[in-house]
Amino acid sequence: MALVVQKYGGTSMGSVERIRNVARRITRTYDAGNDMVVVVSAMSGETNKLVALANDLCEFPDNREYDVLVASGEQVSIALLAICLKSMGYKAKSYHGWQVPILTDSAFSKARIEDIPDTNMRADLNDGTIIVVAGFQGVDSTGNITTLGRGGSDTSAVALAAALTADVCEIYTDVDGVYTTDPNICSSARKIEKVSYDEMLELASLGAKVLQIRSVEFAKKYNVDIHVRSSFNDNPGTMVTKEDKEMESVLVSGIAYDKNETKIAVMQVPDTPGIAAKILSPLADANISVDMIVQNVSEAGYTDFTFTVTKADFKLALAITTETAREVEAGTVVTDENISKISIVGLGMRSHAGVATKMFQTLAKEGINIQMISTSEIKISVIVDSKYTELAVRVLHEVFGLAGGE
Ligand code: ASP
Ligand code: MG
Repeated sequence: MALVVQKYGGTSMGSVERIRNVARRITRTYDAGNDMVVVVSAMSGETNKLVALANDLCEFPDNREYDVLVASGEQVSIALLAICLKSMGYKAKSYHGWQVPILTDSAFSKARIEDIPDTNMRADLNDGTIIVVAGFQGVDSTGNITTLGRGGSDTSAVALAAALTADVCEIYTDVDGVYTTDPNICSSARKIEKVSYDEMLELASLGAKVLQIRSVEFAKKYNVDIHVRSSFNDNPGTMVTKEDKEMESVLVSGIAYDKNETKIAVMQVPDTPGIAAKILSPLADANISVDMIVQNVSEAGYTDFTFTVTKADFKLALAITTETAREVEAGTVVTDENISKISIVGLGMRSHAGVATKMFQTLAKEGINIQMISTSEIKISVIVDSKYTELAVRVLHEVFGLAGGE
């Protein structure tokens, strides 16, 4: 007999019929003799609707009340699922975040989980009750309702699995698992059986939106194996787990792309100490995060300073940078909004040389110009013209052997 944590996302809970389907899956695992804690998201689209209502009322909704509002989507889900399970003759009980309790700090809309005492849940589990917990929400030390950031139910599930030292943590979604790349643009993309926490963090932050990033960080910290799988079939999904020898032998395990970046370049910046900080700190002050940065000194004592920011931050970043450029007596500011970031991710890069060369040669052969490059231990990212996104992903997927069944 095991303790199983299962999480069902918004699409899996999207209608009464789908909730019945979820209930059938839960009872199958329960009937096999397992203790069950189930975490659910709001029905698909509901959280967006709530956010829109608040934004219709005013531009900056009060933080505390915003969390009270958006947490309500999950309340509907836990009640409906518990009603369904009980109507099928099972013992079930819904839990708000505060009833668990899932204790968090007071950072409304991006609260961090601090502790999850398990006494209440243990009592119900010992009684054979299926526990249905509202994902995404918690409670702070003064009893305020908090939420964990969009997509936060994944983190609720992993945190509960850690707190209860569950044997299994399954995240059910509407895809079969994590893919080698986006199947919508590359038909030979295939499901990855096993991926390390670090690779998943790189892939998730690059747009493979299967799991909230924070849930993977949590899983890594507490050593929780996450099984990502579909609630619409019985296929095995992807295990997100700690790395092993076998994973290290794979050069590249996935290819991500991100069309959400823009490029800003300040030309002819005087090459003096502190200039990078001068350009970047007004952006940081405005809460704009900069992703890639390239700086190169030319002979004449000038440097060209280029960086990328998200599309949402572009306008403000450009205004700020234009002002800074004037202050430091730099040259013109040049921009490009049609760029795309292509990244290859794999543990094997740490121990194998030549991965970057192979990537660059492959892109060159297709006539794709590389505008910027950045690397980490297990990732190489390049910026290219966005019209080459699909082509770049496909040729890299092919050349690194991701399509074939190795
Ligand atoms: N319902 C919340 C959201 O849409 C949390 C979640 O789905 O994980 O962001
Ligand atoms: Mg999600």
